[in-house]
Amino acid sequence: MKPAPFKYYAPATVQEALSHLAEHGWDAKALAGGQSLIPMMNFRLAQPGVIVDLNRIAALSYVQPARDGGIRVGAMTRQNQVERDPLVAQAAPLIHAAMPKIAYPQVRSRGTIGGSIAHADPSAELVAASVALEGQFVLRSSRGERQVAAQDFFLGLFTTVLEPDELLIEIRLPPMPPRSGWSFLEIARRHHDFALVGVAAVVTLDKKGLCDQCRLAFFSVGDGPVQGLQACAALQGQEPVADTIDAAAEIAGDADVDPQSDINASSEYRRHLVKVLSRRAMTEAFERARGG
Ligand code: FAD
Repeated sequence: MKPAPFKYYAPATVQEALSHLAEHGWDAKALAGGQSLIPMMNFRLAQPGVIVDLNRIAALSYVQPARDGGIRVGAMTRQNQVERDPLVAQAAPLIHAAMPKIAYPQVRSRGTIGGSIAHADPSAELVAASVALEGQFVLRSSRGERQVAAQDFFLGLFTTVLEPDELLIEIRLPPMPPRSGWSFLEIARRHHDFALVGVAAVVTLDKKGLCDQCRLAFFSVGDGPVQGLQACAALQGQEPVADTIDAAAEIAGDADVDPQSDINASSEYRRHLVKVLSRRAMTEAFERARGG
């Protein structure tokens, strides 16, 4: 299949890109790595009348330290750049661990961090990872700029708070507090396939070694990232040992998620995977938090 006809702009600055989006509104689409948009256009699932290609905007590609000790990543930074960046590995190890699980090296050499987040695929690793890490997204239009928390950004299946004239500009990942640990796990039929179920976990211990904070974000179990709020509430203030972690993992599978069946897995199997992955992820995250 070939895409429907469209007008093509390749601006060199963010400002220029924003003015094209402002002019064409819902008829326009930003093009990043094209790894999701181009197949959708070829299948005519998307038929934008105008493409605003962001690939010449060098100013949107960077990984920089943030003042708070976290990192700032430009939306057009390629996924393989993020994967190899030493600052990401040191300041956001969960993201570093998630990157190789996205598709194949060929896809990651074109796909961007911002494209993956803006696309809001409920099976995307970066969507869940950014929620677990309490990321913040900088959105800009010719009307101004705003910052949106990752957990408020994703509205549902392939749907975000982005307005048609807005671009995702920057992804901000804050540092994890002291005594924190993380884990990123997924189950896929074959390495590099979209996950049947995955989880990003971030936990923090208090000075007595009890669970102070816990964030679980699941992917491939709903219309967007699904948080393990009830599982985490059950662990709050508890000593994170095998029994309490097992109990929280059961709650995650029974109460936090309500996965659908599809050709890849039944709802029951996904619930089972949520329990198994939650248990493993929390165990690993608490071990890291203890410095193990
Ligand atoms: P594009 O395809 O260019 O754009 C995607 C959407 O985001 C479009 O609607 C576009 O308008 C919008 N957009 C892009 N950038 C911006 C911006 N800065 N501001 C506002 N809107 C923007 N992904 C996974 O997470 N896990 C996988 O396992 C996985 N497997 C894949 C396997 C294959 C074979 C392929 C082809 C893709 C796979 N993907 C997977 C998707 C891949 O990660 C894409 O790169 C990603 O979803 C989209 O990023 P992109 O930069 O290519 O964006």
